[in-house]
Amino acid sequence: MPSDHVDVLIIGAGLSGIGAACHLRRDCPDKTYAVLEARDAIGGTWDLFRYPGIRSDSDMFTLGYSFRPWTDATAIADGAAIREYVRDTAREYDVQRHIRFSHRVTRAEWDSGTARWTVHAERTDTAETVVLTCSFLFACTGYYRYDEGYTPTLPGVDAYAGRLVHPQHWPDDLDHTGQRVVVIGSGATAVTLVPALAQRAAHVTMLQRSPTYVIALPSRDRLAGALRRRLPANAAYSVVRWKNVLLSTVNFQLSRRAPALVKRLLRRGAKRQLPVGYDVDRHFSPRYDPWDQRLCVVPDGDLFTAVRQGRASVVTDTIDAFTAHGVRLASGDELSADIVVTATGLNLLALGGLTLRVDGVDVDLPETVAYKGMMLSGVPNFALTLGYTNASWTLKADLVAGYVCRLLRHLDRTGQQVVTPLPPPDARRVPLIDLRSGYVLRSVDALPRQGERAPWRLYQNYARDVLLMRHGRLTDEGVRFTRRTRQGRSTDRAEV
Ligand SMILES: Cc1cc2nc3c(=O)[nH]c(=O)nc-3n(C[C@H](O)[C@H](O)[C@H](O)COP(=O)(O)OP(=O)(O)OC[C@H]3O[C@@H](n4cnc5c(N)ncnc54)[C@H](O)[C@@H]3O)c2cc1C
Repeated sequence: MPSDHVDVLIIGAGLSGIGAACHLRRDCPDKTYAVLEARDAIGGTWDLFRYPGIRSDSDMFTLGYSFRPWTDATAIADGAAIREYVRDTAREYDVQRHIRFSHRVTRAEWDSGTARWTVHAERTDTAETVVLTCSFLFACTGYYRYDEGYTPTLPGVDAYAGRLVHPQHWPDDLDHTGQRVVVIGSGATAVTLVPALAQRAAHVTMLQRSPTYVIALPSRDRLAGALRRRLPANAAYSVVRWKNVLLSTVNFQLSRRAPALVKRLLRRGAKRQLPVGYDVDRHFSPRYDPWDQRLCVVPDGDLFTAVRQGRASVVTDTIDAFTAHGVRLASGDELSADIVVTATGLNLLALGGLTLRVDGVDVDLPETVAYKGMMLSGVPNFALTLGYTNASWTLKADLVAGYVCRLLRHLDRTGQQVVTPLPPPDARRVPLIDLRSGYVLRSVDALPRQGERAPWRLYQNYARDVLLMRHGRLTDEGVRFTRRTRQGRSTDRAEV
C-alpha cells in the first residue's frame, strides 16, 4: 500500500496512543491519522499484564486523561478497569476505526525533499510488509519489551521441579490455591502480587535482595467521593486531579530536599502497619533515598495486612541456588515453593524497537538529545511519549500530545511543513530517565539523553511542564521550523 498517506501516524494503541489520537481529534480535526498497533488489542500495558491483582500504583485521577474524567471514587483501579477506561475513551472519540492492529512498525525513513516519513510495518498475523507514508510520526510505544520480561540469572534453576512464572506472561491455567508461592522481587509488581496471591495460597514469601520503600495509601479518594455529589464530573475530576498533583509534587520535592526526614516518615508508616517487634529496618528500610527509585504504593496497606495475618512474609536474602523443591538462600535457609514468580522487572526498549533514518543516515538514539522530553535532535517531524517516573504517566502523555497538536497548527498557520529540534550548544548530557532502578540502569545507555537545561531538559515537575508545554513559546533556540524543498532537503530558513 505505498499510496497510503496520513498526516499523522501514531505507533501504539496503549494509554498514550489512544490519548494522542483523541487529542488530534479534538485539537486538529482536519488532520488525517492512523494508529499502527503490533498487538490485536487496545490498552498496551493494561491489556498485556494479567497477573493476579494487577492494578495501578498511581491514582486514577492523574493516570486518567485530562479530557475524560475518571468518575469512580476508587483511586487505585485494577487492570481490567483501566483497560475498559482506555477502550471506552477510544470508542467515545471514534478512534477505533483508525487503528490497524497486528502491525509492528520496524523502521521509518524521513525524506526532507518530500517532508515525509516512509514507515515500514510487519503484519504479525500474515507476515506481510506494509508501507505507509506520513507527515508526522508519533511514537507511543511505551518503554519496555513486550515479548520478554527481565529475568536475572537464577543459579541452578534447571533443578527446580515446581512452576516458574514471570508476571509479564502469566499462564491462564495457573491455579495457586493452597500452593506455597515464592515471589522474587521487591518492586511494584511484587508488592501487588503478594497480597493478591496470599488470598488463596497456602503461604506467599516475598524474597527480596534489598528492600524498597512501601507506602500505604487509601484505595478510595474521600474528596472525590464528596465532590462527585456536589459538582459536575469534569469539575470534580479537575479538583481531585490537581490535589493529587500537588500532593505528589510535594512528596517528591520533599524527598529530594529532606531525604532523611522522608525516610523516617516512611519507616514510621511501615512500622505502624507491621506486627510488634517486626524487623522493619531489615525488610522495609532501603539503603537508597526515597525517589531514587519509584516508591511502591500498597492500597489500604494490603501487603502489610497479609504480613500481619501471617499469610505472607518477607525475606531479605540472596539466592544461593534453586533446589528441586524451592530456593536455598545465602544464609543457609531454604524456602519451599510449589510456584516461584520472578517479579524481577522489565527490559527497557526505546521506540518499540523501531529504527529511524533521516535522509539516508541511521539515527543513533544515544547520540540524540531530547527536546522538551518529547522530540529528538536532528529528527524532523517526530515525537515520542515517555511518561513521568515520579508521577502518573498520563500527565506527561497528555502534555506531549497537546504540544504535538500545537506544533501541527503552528506549521499550518505559518505555511511551513518541517519542525526539527537542534542539539544544545554545549556537550553536557544527563540521562533521560532520572531513576536508579535496576531496569533503568541496565538500559539507560541505549536511550536518548537530555541536555542540562531547558528546553533540552524536563524537570519531572507537572506544574512547570504545563506552563512550558501548554502555554510556552513554540519557537525557541532548540528548534527550527522550515519549508519543504523539491531539491531533497528542507531549507534552513528558520521561523522564529
Ligand atoms: C505492570 C505495570 C504497572 C504500571 N503501573 C503504572 C501506574 O500505576 N501509573 C503509571 O503512571 N504508570 C504505570 N506503569 C507504566 C505504564 O506503562 C503506563 O502507565 C502506561 O500504560 C504507558 O502507556 P503507553 O501507551 O505509553 O505504553 P504501553 O502501555 O506500553 O503501550 C504501548 C503500545 O505500543 C505498542 N507498540 C510498541 N512497539 C510497537 C511497534 N514497534 N509497532 C507497533 N506497535 C507497537 C504495544 O503493543 C502497546 O500496545 C505501569 C507499567 C507496568 C508494566
